[in-house]
Amino acid sequence: MPGDVLVVAEHKDEDLKKVTLEMLGEGTRIAEKLGGVVEAALLGSDVGGVAEALAHYGAVRVYLADAPSLEKYSGEGYTTVLAGLIEKVVPAVVLLGATTQGKDLAPRVAARLGLGLASDCTAFEVAADGRLIITRPVYGGRAIATVMEKTTPQMATVRPNVMAPLEPDTSRTAPVEKLAVETGDIRARVIDLIQESGRQQVGLAEAEIIVSGGRGLKGPESFDLLEELADVLGAAVGASRAAVDAGWIDHSHQVGQTGRTVTPNLYIACGISGAVQHLAGMKTARYIVAINKDPDAPIFRVADYGIVGDLFEVVPILTEEFKRALQQKTCTATVVNERT
Ligand SMILES: Cc1cc2nc3c(=O)[nH]c(=O)nc-3n(C[C@H](O)[C@H](O)[C@H](O)COP(=O)(O)OP(=O)(O)OC[C@H]3O[C@@H](n4cnc5c(N)ncnc54)[C@H](O)[C@@H]3O)c2cc1C
Repeated sequence: MPGDVLVVAEHKDEDLKKVTLEMLGEGTRIAEKLGGVVEAALLGSDVGGVAEALAHYGAVRVYLADAPSLEKYSGEGYTTVLAGLIEKVVPAVVLLGATTQGKDLAPRVAARLGLGLASDCTAFEVAADGRLIITRPVYGGRAIATVMEKTTPQMATVRPNVMAPLEPDTSRTAPVEKLAVETGDIRARVIDLIQESGRQQVGLAEAEIIVSGGRGLKGPESFDLLEELADVLGAAVGASRAAVDAGWIDHSHQVGQTGRTVTPNLYIACGISGAVQHLAGMKTARYIVAINKDPDAPIFRVADYGIVGDLFEVVPILTEEFKRALQQKTCTATVVNERT
């Protein structure tokens, strides 16, 4: 329908990814202004159970493409199914997460349908003529671009941790429309997904809290210190490129221009100088805490709180203090959303 917003759901192990909930919230707000509703596209194998949660978070209709051929993400298969759905329902807006999957899928679908695409968007306004006025950081976050697309549906990928989800309402239900799945010829298939061994699983893109380490850690074993702090806070572990290039930690942990862009509520940078390429990936974090022994380190220019000191002394103290405070419940590891 002309004013509808289609959110492409992402899920793992029968749970919706947080960015999907955020897109449903933002999609609802956009659809209200366009006089439409928010709908969800759910692709996968044996994933019908997730449809209920989509309704709780605002979807008024769920399009379900459920087939063994969609069990693992494939660029070709998912593109064919999603492009077919968009041609069928012709929404005003299509939103995907700016995640590993969304960043692969969105441009494929846009190219297949001859549509424009705004990527990694952080805000949407609706103009009087119903076109979206889209905000997206560019040049590694050093400038903000405002873009409008000429084509319909208007497609965008949405940066995780930026939009607010709706309060879940378990009384909300949504009809589920099953789609006939025709993936066509899939030439490249994901055969297996292998869990990274050793270090904690990343989940950087959607993490609320990130504890990140750089060259100041001096060696791979020091990431254990960060992991202890991360465990206490329920945080993910990030890294600078210097630490990754030294082989201390896998590239999937890298934050920055050539790594991940993250928007956590709290980013704790340990032994990271704050090079522009690193800042490009994390400076939109709500709160930045920097621990560095050099008082002139550039990271302090973007930090909300700075600790000038040796991380090998400071991090264990923080870990112990947070552990104590959390046990005594004098603080919570969920960082409040608004500055007070
Ligand atoms: C094209 C390009 C792309 C790039 N992409 C990225 C990217 O995606 N991500 C990224 O991070 N970088 C990227 N870089 C690299 C970037 O320019 C920096 O070289 C890198 O970020 C530096 O990492 P670092 O801060 O860990 O190391 P350094 O700059 O060497 O800083 C180490 C810091 O640790 C502090 N320190 C040392 N010992 C201690 C201690 N005991 N306690 C406390 N503090 C201590 C020092 O004072 C120093 O400030 C890119 C570069 C280029 C050219």
